[in-house]
Amino acid sequence: MVKPPTREAASGLRAVARCDELGAVPYSDSDEHLFRPYLGAGHAAALDRIAAWMTEAGMAARIDAAGNIVGRYEGRHPDAPALLIGSHVDSVRDGGRYDGMLGVILGIETVAWFAERGHRFGFAIEVIGFGDEEGSRFPVSMLTSRAVAGVLGDQDLALADAAGVGLAEALEGFGLDLAGFAGAARQRGDVLAYVEAHIEQGPVLEAEGHALGVVSGIAAQYRFRAVVTGTAGHAGTMAMRLRHDALAAAAEMVLAVERIGGAGPEDLVATVGRMEVGPGVPNVVPGAVTFSIDVRAGRGAVRDRAADEIRQALAEIAARRAVTLDLTVQQDLPATPCDAGLSDLMAEAVREVTGAAPRILVSGAGHDAMVMAHLAPVAMLFLRCRGGISHNPAEAVMDEDVQAALEAMTAFVARLDRASFGAPPKEKEE
Ligand SMILES: [Zn+2]
Repeated sequence: MVKPPTREAASGLRAVARCDELGAVPYSDSDEHLFRPYLGAGHAAALDRIAAWMTEAGMAARIDAAGNIVGRYEGRHPDAPALLIGSHVDSVRDGGRYDGMLGVILGIETVAWFAERGHRFGFAIEVIGFGDEEGSRFPVSMLTSRAVAGVLGDQDLALADAAGVGLAEALEGFGLDLAGFAGAARQRGDVLAYVEAHIEQGPVLEAEGHALGVVSGIAAQYRFRAVVTGTAGHAGTMAMRLRHDALAAAAEMVLAVERIGGAGPEDLVATVGRMEVGPGVPNVVPGAVTFSIDVRAGRGAVRDRAADEIRQALAEIAARRAVTLDLTVQQDLPATPCDAGLSDLMAEAVREVTGAAPRILVSGAGHDAMVMAHLAPVAMLFLRCRGGISHNPAEAVMDEDVQAALEAMTAFVARLDRASFGAPPKEKEE
């Protein structure tokens, strides 16, 4: 007889309660909403709390050179390779409580579930909470999983945040140093696989009545920085026909991005999400505008074609309005297929728990898994979220879905152990 889940033992209920606890001060840098940027005060407080939960669950907890929290639950043999279970602990401004954090907490609950039953495996389990996935502080995303996967670029270490604080200075506040940052990289042979549970952040699972889904791959993504330079002038005296208004040009460019994004297949999306206007005062014609462009699609070729169209359309607008346009690629992430064998194990685990064939879907959102795929085979489990809403305080999950996700994760771990170190996976025991 299986005991009903409680908040006292490893369970989905406890996972939800822990995410809720971490959704406010002191685990947020704002007392009005959840905002937990990389290497901020809320991040530091959250790591203390998470480390305590990891320790309680039987793990040895540490903070790595990139500011990631890592808890290790040893396998049957010391120095066994590790199954990494993780996600990110940072949040966007005015974010939700489950994006990222739920995957970290589910990892802890998965270990706690086995520790409570005295199970050890042929591999160690390490739960990892990545410090930056969202680009919550610096103008690139997945900085810390890229450190772990050993795929940082030179320009990554020269970053500064919106307030001009450099990565080196931000790390110092955490007792870390820039020179050691890349030392967070893991060796291939030490990592068996990486598995991430995450809310879907989209409406498909809810619309089709599935609690859980298995991700087949993650969409290709471009992030551009566009700088439009016109001529600033007095808003009262500069005749309309003589203006080179950078903001009016940028507005036209935003609409072009939207039009091109909407003209492709359903998984093609293009977004301008950030804009700065200079000098940004009511009585001056804008002289300079900087904005972001984000383009994604399940297939790299579709994304690339859209990006080319955007480049061309924006150049035409700039030429017609006699402003200059400087477009630079800030991030270029190829489409990432999840590992077929691991995904099959996850699908079997989901079927074992829900009794139904899982929904298989592409992730339009980027995740640390796409970076970790450089280091090890990856799999992802998606949880239904209410209305598909994410990056929003209205983000919500159902307790029973989180419980099902925890059971799927434990079933996955057991199947991976049998597949890697023991007998072939057993059929479901009634
Ligand atoms: Zn996320």
